[in-house]
Amino acid sequence: MRVLSVASEVYPLIKTGGLADVAGALPQALAPHGVEIKTLVPAYPGVLDRLHPRENYGSVADLFGGPARVISGRTTAGAEVLAIHAPHLYQRNGGPYQAPGGGDWPDNGPRFAALAWVARLIGLGLLGSWLPQIVHAHDWQAGLAPTYLALAGSARPATIMTIHNIAFQGLFPYADLDSLRLPPRVFTIDGVEFHGRIGFLKAGLAFADRLTTVSPTYAREIQGPAHGHGLDGLLRHRSGVLSGILNGIDTEAWDPSSDPMIAERYDVEHLSDKARNAVILRRRLGLEPRPNAPLFCILSRLTYAKGIDLALGALPQLLAGGGQLAVLGAGDPSIESAVRAAAAAHPGQIVSIIGYDESLAHQFQAAADAILVPSRTEPCGLTQLYGLRYGTLPIVARVGGLADSVIDASDAALEDGAATGFQFAPGSVDSLREAIARALALFAQPKSWRAVQRHAMTRDFGWRNPARRYAELYRSVAPA
Ligand code: ADP
Repeated sequence: MRVLSVASEVYPLIKTGGLADVAGALPQALAPHGVEIKTLVPAYPGVLDRLHPRENYGSVADLFGGPARVISGRTTAGAEVLAIHAPHLYQRNGGPYQAPGGGDWPDNGPRFAALAWVARLIGLGLLGSWLPQIVHAHDWQAGLAPTYLALAGSARPATIMTIHNIAFQGLFPYADLDSLRLPPRVFTIDGVEFHGRIGFLKAGLAFADRLTTVSPTYAREIQGPAHGHGLDGLLRHRSGVLSGILNGIDTEAWDPSSDPMIAERYDVEHLSDKARNAVILRRRLGLEPRPNAPLFCILSRLTYAKGIDLALGALPQLLAGGGQLAVLGAGDPSIESAVRAAAAAHPGQIVSIIGYDESLAHQFQAAADAILVPSRTEPCGLTQLYGLRYGTLPIVARVGGLADSVIDASDAALEDGAATGFQFAPGSVDSLREAIARALALFAQPKSWRAVQRHAMTRDFGWRNPARRYAELYRSVAPA
């Protein structure tokens, strides 16, 4: 089985978010299922340097305003990559989507139409000698690939569109239709049109043979107006081909028994060693040395969607119950200052680190007793999965992948040993307060807390299960 995975970012070549992790993990995860994946990505600066050995795969005379070469190579992880070297589109300082000063690149339409166009050429056997049976497009940047292929007729690979976050849709003016190589007949409500503009994600959702997203609950939620961002009608219409597959995590990079970034390694048999990480983190961050106090953490982009304001609203409960809080994150300046203000008001009990720090993120997971994830919407979420693996019990809003991955410590779940964390009603400070109170009460019973930690740490959130689901999906859709 041959699959061309089409993504605007892939770990370890280029990463701005979870999409890169998933695109980077799929090839290795699917290999045992006899699935060969090549990943098509734009060659932003630095990408080609990270591919070995590099070989010419083919060329395109005019790729949206200039010549392009496709270069094949492998990542350090051994994944096969096809990188589109088109200097007029991708070789520039700044991010993959935004210019250095912030703000989207003005030519993002053609930049990512080009990604989809090359997928079309490869899928139709017009470029290179390797012919995929499936083209798997990720997020809006790859959204035109299923459309271009559908327009090419029936002798084409099957197509899958995966939504990693429906809030980002790739909308461009109607006037660009012709230059994006789209015929006028697809500019309809059943095609690429979205409220008078061209929607790349909409196009993928309208034309792909199968649709997936990154958790079963998110797959249901996006079929409703509260989470559908205007695409819920289309998704309801296509619900028969839509499924949710929870992302896996990298269980080697996130393993408390071998994590090189944490002070004291531990595993489920040696859980008491986890406490040493808290002692060291408290000292490092300037939190009062209170070894018996429950240490909560937040590790997140600081945005409204992540519900950080809800966590701040629940601080009185957390502090009154004797808890301490460490926050690591960056994002909206107003939320950053609210977090800073909370820390300033409670020195020694609350601390905030504004910034992005991978190593500190591991130390937070190793040190904290519980991690707060109060998101208003969460396609899959990763930090709660890392929390489970590190015995750092997640307190999560009951949305998306959070609802699918954490089992609430209800009386019944505690009794039968199924509990792995705490859930609360999304968007509700009162419900979050109540969940924190339950966490504090359980923490006061060390034996029960430990039992939940143990169960959380032994759940399997690696790529084995998701890979099996993707393999089944690929088999069900591949042309005979
Ligand atoms: P999203 O992709 O919406 O930001 P996820 O939970 O899916 O949320 O993934 C977030 C990832 O980014 C996790 O791996 C988390 O550890 C990491 N992360 C978020 N904020 C920071 C930060 N300030 N420093 C280090 N890592 C962070």
